[in-house]
Amino acid sequence: MFGVLRRLRQWLFITRHPFPEQEWQRAMARLPILKGLNEQEAQHLGQRAWRFIHDKHVSLHPELIDSIELAADQRLAIAAQICLLTLGWSDSDHRHMQSNVHELQILPGAFSRQVKQTDAYGVTHDYEHRRAGETSYQGPVVASWPDVAASGNRNGFNVLIHEFAHKIDMRNSLNADGYPPLSSDISPKEWHRIYTAVWDDLQDHLARGQTPPIDAYAASLPGECFAVTCEIFFSAPEQLTSAYPDLYDLLRRYFRQDPLARFGHSPIISVEAGSNV
Ligand SMILES: [Zn+2]
Repeated sequence: MFGVLRRLRQWLFITRHPFPEQEWQRAMARLPILKGLNEQEAQHLGQRAWRFIHDKHVSLHPELIDSIELAADQRLAIAAQICLLTLGWSDSDHRHMQSNVHELQILPGAFSRQVKQTDAYGVTHDYEHRRAGETSYQGPVVASWPDVAASGNRNGFNVLIHEFAHKIDMRNSLNADGYPPLSSDISPKEWHRIYTAVWDDLQDHLARGQTPPIDAYAASLPGECFAVTCEIFFSAPEQLTSAYPDLYDLLRRYFRQDPLARFGHSPIISVEAGSNV
């Protein structure tokens, strides 16, 4: 019964909102992170992105309204990066994971938050942290326009993947704790073991005054470790598999995607910052 209603709703949606093939091709051309998707995957991602921009609210901060007008291909490029996270999942899992996603607000620039953090020795550090984006349990995702525009490259940075990885993480808790809902073929024990090894290695590097093999922000909180490693998994898989091969393999099974194989020998290319969406 529900399946019939869902198919009817999908048919009505397609009838009212025909898929914009040209805009989708332009959106894909903007995003090096989508290189290597086969025809079927690309179409599937495009359809989900098209649905995303109708079902969810993408809004601009009032200060941006006069200077930026998001065209259909730009909105598709934004939605495609969000939907890339769950591209390997079934439609029902994809919908379920986005059920706490309601709105993406784009802000004029990065913003600061005062952060209190207790280290392994029990010492509390109070500092100001610059943020490209922010997420809450049922609230909107916010992201700065310069960081949104700079996302989509093959360089380990992607504010959209980062913030929406937090949303996935929050499907089973109010906070992003680095422990998202797992599929039956990944045990909590395995997830914990692999992420703990990465976490300990990052802390060791920092304690020795060394630069960690991935963005040091991953060492700030377990939830950030998950979100940062998702960014790297999708946009710089060579870096993740070289630093933490077990973690790459875990995320490959978790997301049911293999960006490393997908990119193959395609070079790491970037579109100039500010021009991706
Ligand atoms: Zn974060």
